[in-house]
Amino acid sequence: MNMENLAQLKNLLSSPKDIVIFSHRNPDGDALGSSLGLAHFLMAQQHAVKIILPSEYPNYLNWMNGVDNIIIYDNFPEHAKLAIEKADIFFCLDFNSLDRIDKCGDLMMKQTVPKVMVDHHLFPENFADFILSDTSASSTSELIFDLIHLLDQSKYLVPAAADAIYVGIISDTGSFLYNTSSKVFRTTATLLDRGVDDVSIQNRLYNNLEVKQLRIIGHCLNKRLEILEEFSTALVTITKEDYIEFDIQRGDTEGIVNMLMRIQTIKMAALITEQPTIVKLSLRSKGDFSVQEIATKHFKGGGHKNAAGAASFIGLKPTIRKFKELLPLYSDQLSQK
Ligand code: 5GP
Ligand code: MN
Repeated sequence: MNMENLAQLKNLLSSPKDIVIFSHRNPDGDALGSSLGLAHFLMAQQHAVKIILPSEYPNYLNWMNGVDNIIIYDNFPEHAKLAIEKADIFFCLDFNSLDRIDKCGDLMMKQTVPKVMVDHHLFPENFADFILSDTSASSTSELIFDLIHLLDQSKYLVPAAADAIYVGIISDTGSFLYNTSSKVFRTTATLLDRGVDDVSIQNRLYNNLEVKQLRIIGHCLNKRLEILEEFSTALVTITKEDYIEFDIQRGDTEGIVNMLMRIQTIKMAALITEQPTIVKLSLRSKGDFSVQEIATKHFKGGGHKNAAGAASFIGLKPTIRKFKELLPLYSDQLSQK
C-alpha cells in the first residue's frame, strides 16, 4: 500500500486546520470507528474537527467517545453546510463514491480545498486529491491506523482514537471471523498494547441488546426467513408493517444477515427491508461468490465480494421478485451440485 504525495499531506496537517470528516449514510462500526479514530488523532494535534454523517448512527454505537459532536446532515443540514464551507481539508472515510454521502457530496465538491479519501471498497471514484485505498484492508479503521503511522505521528494515537479504530476493525471483521489477515492481528495487538480494553468494547458492542431487539431477530428468523435451496440462498424480508408492529428501529436488524450465513449449506444471504423511502438490500456470501457483483450490476449498489448492499426504488415486492429472478443467472456458482 502506498500513498502518493504523502509528504504534501503531512505538510498540510503540520499547522492547525478546520477539518471535516465525512462517512457514509447508514453508518456502521467502521464508518464511526474510522471517523472518530481520525478525529481524536487530529484533535490531539490541535486541529478543529467536525464529523458529518448523512444519516443517524445506530444506538449500539452511542457510547463511543465523541459521537455527541457528530453532525447528522438529515437533522441539521444548515449546521453541516456551514462546517463544509469553513473547511480547509476534507476526509472521506469508508466510502469511495460520492452518492454514498447524498447531498454532502455536492456541497463538498463546490469547495476547492484538498480532499483525502481513505477506504477499502472496490472501484474508487476519482474525486480526491489524496487517496489511501486498499481493498485488502479489513476496514477503513485499519487504514486510519496505517495512515497515522505513514504520517509518522503514532504519538497522537491517543486512547480514544485507539478505541475507535478497534471498534471499526471488530465491526468489519465480524470479531475476526472474516476479512482477517496477519496484519490486522498485528494492528490489533498494537492497539491492545496501547490500552484498548477489548473485552469491555466487545461487550458494549454485542452484549447490549434489549429483550425487544432479540424478539425482533426471533420474529425475522422464525416468520420471515425463506430458504431458496436450489440456489443455496437464505432470504429475510422485513415489511413496513413489521417495522410498525414490532417497533423496529435503526440498528435493530443489524446482524440478521450475518446470522443467515451460519447455515452450513448457504452460500448467499440477503436481507431485504422496506424502509420509508427505499428498499434496502444487504447481501453476504461465502467463498468466491461475489455479492458485490450482484449489488453493483443489478441494483447500482456496491461493497465487497462477501458483503455488499444497495438501495432499490421499485418497492418491496418487485425488489424481492427481481432478486429471486436473477438467481438462476448464477446457478452455476450457487447450486449445490
Ligand atoms: P450492509 O449490508 O452492512 O449495509 O453493507 C455491506 C457493505 O455493502 C458495506 O461495505 C457497505 O459499504 C456496502 N453498501 C451497503 N449499502 C450500499 C449502497 O447502497 N451502495 C453502495 N455502493 N454500497 C453499499
Ligand atoms: Mn468498512
